Parts: sequence; structure tokens; C-alpha cells
Amino acid sequence: MLNGRHETAAFRRICVLNTRIETTVKESSKLSGTLCPVSRSQAIVGDRWSLVIMRELFMGNRRFDSLMAQTQATPQMLATRLKKLEKSGMIRRKPYMVRPPRYEYHCTEMGQAFYPIIRALREWGENWCKSKGEPITVRYTHKSCEGNAGLGAVCETCGELLTRADLIPKLSAPYASERAAREAA
Ligand SMILES: [Zn+2]
Repeated sequence: MLNGRHETAAFRRICVLNTRIETTVKESSKLSGTLCPVSRSQAIVGDRWSLVIMRELFMGNRRFDSLMAQTQATPQMLATRLKKLEKSGMIRRKPYMVRPPRYEYHCTEMGQAFYPIIRALREWGENWCKSKGEPITVRYTHKSCEGNAGLGAVCETCGELLTRADLIPKLSAPYASERAAREAA
């Protein structure tokens, strides 16, 4: 059984989490003005920048300059969107340098829960937004079975339900060049 001190700490953590969830719910409901959960989600992540920022964070791209290069957002636009995503509870900042202060951006639990939507957009985009003969942009290998994971929610080779951490990405040559050119620009 937990002693009083631990109970208090655990209770405090739950209170902080609940307050964060409440703040997020109030925020999205204020922004969308509706009970509809699709509209509330859209109020948080429905713009172009927020979606590509989340895509980059799932690709492990966490620093401001590199996020700016890959999203093609202006510094002001990127800073505004990062603040908005942080206020919504999707991301949190972690300092990686003190002088000058520099931060990396990480997904919170709420942000991590957004991965299936990015995955579904990728699958839909590969199926409906590509010209004939264009190669698959990112192929994923499933870590545990070492097979081709495919585009869906479950591994095409072994049928296991996938999370982002289970996948090893391999970018197509044209997409790798596109990203390298952005980073170098
Ligand atoms: Zn597999």
C-alpha cells in the first residue's frame, strides 16, 4: 500500500493531468463552439501547419530550425503554431541548451495518441493522392517480424497492431532528396 506521501504525490499528478485535460477540452470547445468532437479536433490540428509539425515530430524532427526547414513555415508562423499545440496539450518543450535557451519539442500522451491519424492520412494519400507509377514515399519495416509493415494499422506481414515505435522508416530516394534539399536551403 502506498504511504501518505506517495498518495499525495500520485493524487497531485492526477489533479495536474485532470486540470490539463480540462484546459484542453475548454480550449477546443471555445475554439470550435460545438459539442462535435470532429470540430473540436479540427480546432486543434485542422490547419496545415499543425498537421505537418505533428508529422515531423513523429519522424523524430524536434528542433526549431529543422522544423522550420521541413515544414517551410516562417519563424513567426512556426512559433505561433508550436505555442498553440503546447497550449492545446499536444506537445511539450524540453530544454536542450541553457545559453542561449533552446528547446526540443516532444509529443505528450495526447500528442502520441494522434499518430493513428497521421498514419491514416499517409495511407489515404498513398492510395488517392499519387500519380500512377510514383513510388511509395516511406516504407516501414516492422521491428519485431522484420517484414514489410505496409500502410495500414496492422502489420501486413504478421498482422500485429502497430505503433510508431514498432516501425523502421525507409524514405524513397526522391523524398530523401526533397528533405535534404530543404535542410540545406
Ligand atoms: Zn510484422
